[in-house]
Amino acid sequence: MPTTLAKNPPPTVTTENLAVAALERHAADRTRVALVWEGPQGERETVTFHDLNRRANRIANVLTGFGVGRGDRVFTLLERTPTHYAVLPGVVKTGAALGVLFSDFGAEAIRQRLGDAEARAVVTDAFNLPKLTAILHELPRLEHVLVVGGLPSALRASRRPRFHDFTEAFEQASPEFFAPEISPNDTCFIIYTSGTTGLPKGVVHRHALGERLVSTAHDVLKLDSGDLFWCTADPGWVTGLCYGTFAPWLLGLPFFAHGCDFDAARWTGLLERHQITCLYTTPTLLRQWRKAGPDVFAGRSLALNRLYSVGEPLNAEILRWAEAAFGVPVFDTYWQTETGTHLIANRPGLKVKPGSMGCPVPGVEAAVADESGREVIPGTVGSIVIRPSLISLFKGYWNFPETTQACFRNGWYVTGDRGWRDEDGYFHFVAREDDVITCAAQRIGPFEVESALLRHPAVIEAAVIGVDDPLTTQHVKAFVHVRTEYASDGELAAELAGTVREQLSPLACPREIEFCDDLPKTRTGKIQRGQLRSVGALDQTRVFLVPAES
Ligand code: AMP
Repeated sequence: MPTTLAKNPPPTVTTENLAVAALERHAADRTRVALVWEGPQGERETVTFHDLNRRANRIANVLTGFGVGRGDRVFTLLERTPTHYAVLPGVVKTGAALGVLFSDFGAEAIRQRLGDAEARAVVTDAFNLPKLTAILHELPRLEHVLVVGGLPSALRASRRPRFHDFTEAFEQASPEFFAPEISPNDTCFIIYTSGTTGLPKGVVHRHALGERLVSTAHDVLKLDSGDLFWCTADPGWVTGLCYGTFAPWLLGLPFFAHGCDFDAARWTGLLERHQITCLYTTPTLLRQWRKAGPDVFAGRSLALNRLYSVGEPLNAEILRWAEAAFGVPVFDTYWQTETGTHLIANRPGLKVKPGSMGCPVPGVEAAVADESGREVIPGTVGSIVIRPSLISLFKGYWNFPETTQACFRNGWYVTGDRGWRDEDGYFHFVAREDDVITCAAQRIGPFEVESALLRHPAVIEAAVIGVDDPLTTQHVKAFVHVRTEYASDGELAAELAGTVREQLSPLACPREIEFCDDLPKTRTGKIQRGQLRSVGALDQTRVFLVPAES
């Protein structure tokens, strides 16, 4: 077990702007590496804290020049490139709230988030620009769009929003920036996540979150000098933003980033080539690695000494496989967008019970409670709850005070997950309490998918549930009632799936579509997704499977 305990006590960062704490502290040492990147064509770039800080400063100056700052929301819609990793702290330095959109989001998913947050500026690239221009008329609050990789000349004349060539603006801006003072309670991130009802909600986090990022990166991930950390998550997901980007920087450590989708042989090659020591990934990716067969590991000389998992249940079987295949200890971590940092985790120094998520991390008081918020005895399934004194706990959902309020019960923050605690204090995950679908470690809201289906002229009614999936934990299944003039066949199923993929994302796209004439409803007319989940299918002969790429 080569993992050693971190040697240095974690610094505290409470009163500083998160991005200032992440970059400026370490920028004086001009050789200290912040980012190691490999691109799709094997291009490589290594960026020091000094250089990254100057890049972030230029971006902060460009945005400040637009009048953007505290009280504003600025989003990125970019690939995983060094530029993106400089824009993230650049936005935070201005005092504006940073939001990150997945680059595989469709126009509707982008519109929902930018519209809800009333974003003032977006940094995007030539690849994503058409999705944004298609919805601009629905984003009256958007004032500035910075485009990486060339601005089409037709857009230069636009007055609202104004389009700017990123490179031109960047090169003209000063690499010195003096971040305005912030209070630890000021907002630094707005991270959209799905719930059971309504469209995705913005989870609002404060700069003080950095304090818990530092302590958990230290206590759980055990990041230390000598590590090259790779969190495979995109910064569009809280894991990629908090642990994949800011946590190592806050400790003055580098991370590795890669712009491409998963490919087992290629990614194993990356682990070897860059001598990654600590990998943070998901059970879905581990299962894809396993599916690729043992050849991808043959003859490799890996420097990996520990591996962490997040986002979905890490069952004992996949944990044991990963331990054997990578030859390192494997630790599960449990938390959520709303908590900002780890809650319950396995970690070096704690005996791992395969199948359990581990124990609460230092500083977290977690319990299992009944519906009235009273703790239940070990072995009893209930709600996983934590004490809300956790400094990284969200400030609330943007514009949804009642939904925020509903997360708190009898002095606890209620995660919305069901689980149980054993006699030794280890937590075991059971399921979500709501209708949210967990697919490849992402939360997918059934309502968003149903709304996307209803935009197709054939659809009268739709209900969406999660179905167990051996690779991705769950996949999306849609029950649709279509107008009689449409043939309920495989062609229509593929078309409906395609419309969801285009509007939302590939992950939200249903893998199964079942045509039906009626949906089970309550007396008040609400569709009973629970009943659909328990039967799985109303009529198996009307189910159409949709291949992943269709
Ligand atoms: P997100 O906010 O998108 O990161 O999703 C958080 C949700 O993912 C949690 O509320 C759980 O439902 C699920 N989740 C996260 N980590 C784990 C884990 N280690 N085991 C089981 N479920 C998890």
